[in-house]
Amino acid sequence: MIYLDHAATTKTAPEVVESMLPYFTECYGNAGSIYKLGNESRMAVIRAKETIAGTLGAEANEIYFTSGGTESDNWALKAVYEAYRDKGRHIITSKVEHHAVLHTCEYLEKQGVEVTYLDVDGDGLVDVEQLKRAIRPDTILISIMYANNEIGTLQPVKEIGEIAANHGILFHTDAVQAYGQLPIDVAACHIDLLSASGHKFNGPKGVGFLYISKKAKIRSFMHGGQQERGRRAGTENVPGIVGLEAAVKRVYCSVEDSFDEIKRKTQEEKCSCSLIAKREKEIEHERMLRDYLISRIEQEIPGAMLNGHRTKRLPGNVNFSFPGVEGESVLIMLDMQGICASSGSACTSGSIDPSHVLLAIGRSPEEARSAIRLTLGVENTKEEMDIVVGELARIVGKIRESRL
Ligand code: PLP
Repeated sequence: MIYLDHAATTKTAPEVVESMLPYFTECYGNAGSIYKLGNESRMAVIRAKETIAGTLGAEANEIYFTSGGTESDNWALKAVYEAYRDKGRHIITSKVEHHAVLHTCEYLEKQGVEVTYLDVDGDGLVDVEQLKRAIRPDTILISIMYANNEIGTLQPVKEIGEIAANHGILFHTDAVQAYGQLPIDVAACHIDLLSASGHKFNGPKGVGFLYISKKAKIRSFMHGGQQERGRRAGTENVPGIVGLEAAVKRVYCSVEDSFDEIKRKTQEEKCSCSLIAKREKEIEHERMLRDYLISRIEQEIPGAMLNGHRTKRLPGNVNFSFPGVEGESVLIMLDMQGICASSGSACTSGSIDPSHVLLAIGRSPEEARSAIRLTLGVENTKEEMDIVVGELARIVGKIRESRL
């Protein structure tokens, strides 16, 4: 099998699985219990917060564990609306966000929120001038993703954060595809809320976090117990949280620092959010494979159209439209050859809808339906890329021929 769907999910790393096991079998206490067994779980949760906070230049009490990216996005948007609706009811986002943001916005529109959906250019980039023009006195939130899950385009997050800060507006970024791949500094980028998910960077599924800066006065949207200082009810998923921490440690270097060292550091020093050397090498490897795959596809498959920005893109993202073919058919034929990839469309109630992201960058519905996303991981090799290009060229050629 050649696995090229790392943006969908990744394999849980062996050290991540290993770190979790004792929290199922030995340290299974409830983190809210006062006896020693519970205390071990509570300490593990606190340690994980310290670790994650250290990677972002944040404080441990600004990290809240969730069930993943979808919950983090829902929480961020709904809770900002609830807390700030007296100040205003206008939110700005973009047309290329993940459905966890877009469908939440649609829900909020039904509650009386006005949402501006910013256009993107042909590469998928938000226009910061359009963003500035969209800001109104009643704007309470700007939510723009760090990196796009389909086409990999990286948004100008720092610039957007500065604009939000200058206007006193909260800035949320869906960093589900970026956290674990890139260094992120919440203070330098003026990020007030950030969503991340463990399973996108070799952590476990069903666990993620929402960073909520002390500045953002938002409440829980889960009601129940007093976990997470009353902001996210529900017994903590301790094995998942420990696994998430282990996945973070594989990637970021600040976690080499001990608990106390991180605490002693000033805010500026605290942001040691660089990638560890091993991870930098892995990312470089993914980037090399990405550029190799892109150039070979462009040379060998006539009419192939690269989707997304050529350089401002996630290290492992390749997305092409192959006009004249259905992406879904290519996927099935790739699967028959043991290659796992993803298409630029979603099956909704039996019909195949073209991707909203590809339509937003100006692809026609037909071009959008012909898209294939190949997302790379550290385990992929150049030899695999050669096989994939060969198979893709054969399959696209065969489908096009059969249509003549
Ligand atoms: N946001 C983005 C950009 C994503 O790519 C995803 C998952 O693909 C999500 C949110 C949802 O994350 P999760 O699967 O952890 O709920």
